[in-house]
Parts: sequence; C-alpha cells; structure tokens
Amino acid sequence: MSLQSTITLHNGVEMPRFGLGVFKVEDSVAASTVKFAIESGYKHIDTAAVYKNEAGVGQGIIDSGIAREDLFVTTKVWNSEQGYETTLAAFEESRKKLQLDVIDLYLVHWPVKGKFVDTYRALEELYAKGLVRAIGVSNFQIHHLEELAKHSSIVPMVNQVEYHPLLTQEPLKQYCAERNIPLTAWSPLMQGNLQLPLLEELAQKYGKTAAQIVLRWDIQTGVITIPKSTTPSRIVENADIWDFELDAEDMARISALNENKRFGADPDNFNF
Ligand code: NDP
Repeated sequence: MSLQSTITLHNGVEMPRFGLGVFKVEDSVAASTVKFAIESGYKHIDTAAVYKNEAGVGQGIIDSGIAREDLFVTTKVWNSEQGYETTLAAFEESRKKLQLDVIDLYLVHWPVKGKFVDTYRALEELYAKGLVRAIGVSNFQIHHLEELAKHSSIVPMVNQVEYHPLLTQEPLKQYCAERNIPLTAWSPLMQGNLQLPLLEELAQKYGKTAAQIVLRWDIQTGVITIPKSTTPSRIVENADIWDFELDAEDMARISALNENKRFGADPDNFNF
C-alpha cells in the first residue's frame, strides 16, 4: 500500500484511503496548505461548507497544478441547509467556491432529525445527474442508517465518523462492513491528544511517531483516514506510514484502548 492506495466504493469509484482534513483551517491558509499537501503526494482533501474554506481549498488545488482526475475532493452539506431544495442550492455554492464541476464525494454532515432523509434525496438527485461521483453520510449511527434505508434507494457509499483508538466504533463498523459502507475516520489523531503510553511504546518499537502509529492502525483496520495539519513537517510525517506494518498483537492492543470516548459531538445528542 502507498499514499496512492484506494478503496473501491460500492459503485466502483476509487477513493484514496488517506487524505488531508481541513477543519479549522482558515480560508486564507487553506490554499497554501492544500497546495503543499498535494505537492507532498496527497490525493484526497476533506472539507465542508461549514469550514468556510472551500474557496481556499479550490485555490490550492488550482495552484498545485494537479490534474483533476488525480485528486479526490469531499465536501458536506451543513445542517442549516438541510432539506431537499436547500441542499441542491448549498451544493451549487460549494461547487462554485471549490471551482470544481464535479465533486468526488458529497456527504450529509450530521443526521439532522426530520431533515436528513430529504437531504439525502437531494444527494441522490445530484448523483443521478453526474454532479457527484459518490454520495454518503457522516455521523450516522446504526439507527440513522436504518431509517435512511427505509426511505432511499442508494446505499451510502461512505460513513464518516469520529474514529480513533479511544473510540473504535466496533458495532457501527461491523454493521457498515456488512453493507459495504467503508468508514472514514474523523479526528483520527484525537485532535492532537496522542500522549498515550502504548502509543509512545509502539512509536519506539517501530521507529515512528505516535501519530504515524495511529494512522497506520486506521489503514490496517480498513478505515479511510483524513488527519488535519497545517504544519508542513506534520503533513509530511502523517503521510509517511507505508514502510512498516503493525503486527497482529499490536493492532489488538491499540484497539483494546477503546473507551467509547468522544472528543467531538455525540450524533445522538448535538445541538447545532
Ligand atoms: P485530527 O485528529 O486530525 O487532529 C488535528 C490536530 O492534531 C491539530 O491540532 C494538528 O495540529 C495536530 N496534529 C496533526 N498532525 C500531528 C502530528 N503528526 N503530531 C502531533 N499533532 C499533530 O483532528 P480533526 O478534528 O481536524 O479531524 C480531521 C479531519 O476530519 C478534519 O480536519 C475534518 O476534515 C474531518 N472532521 C469531520 C467531522 C465531521 O463531522 N464529519 C468532524 C471533525 C473533523 P497542527 O495543524 O497545528 O499541525
């Protein structure tokens, strides 16, 4: 495997397993960050309308000079725009800001009660029109996926959820695996809270950093990962995880760190 490795979504689209997250990256810094990441070999950028940096991301893509077909771009419809017509309008805004004709993956950002079914119907429409290559959801628990399944015809191609050694999401991961819905890990680096003794021990053992140990664990658990950094040395460090392999025992020890601990909001109890 390498930085270019992909996972095949259930509609046949190839999605890079590793990408750059840009939550909390100021629009003014997004262009240079994205350009640097692409020059460092990144093939996948994860943004969202609510990050307010789609324009900067789009500029960074242009500045990098990468061929469009070599890059995979994800964005998401924000909660305040959910609903059928409003989602179609929000998509147009995102597409314009990103300066892209086609978005690779468009996600329902959060399962907003009473709205996400209509929102997803708009995504199905965008997919049918060829304006997005893949559609999916984010922060969906099993019961959200069950409800969606009753009212939609396309199985989501991805579910992007909080996932790291302290939140391994086993039941959800299993449920999604049975339906061919890969998980993407958000906050894979626990928002920088990497000071766990086991991670430090394994960093020593493999001659890697704690961040690299966690990101390699993501890949070996079959989860797509999108670490965020605006620090050039870390952008390079995070992507340098292809020259070693965690053994089965160490994989199990990392997974056993699970505490069902969230650094972000709970999809069953959020107020935004
Ligand atoms: P991450 O777990 O990726 O952590 C980012 C933090 O870790 C930053 O403070 C960064 O600092 C630091 N960091 C990065 N690399 C290293 C390293 N090698 N060593 C030590 N510290 C490091 O958090 P995010 O919440 O940003 O999650 C990643 C992405 O997931 C987001 O950017 C976004 O794209 C997506 N996301 C999606 C959500 C959703 O609801 N769908 C919710 C939250 C995130 P610095 O930048 O200063 O280097």
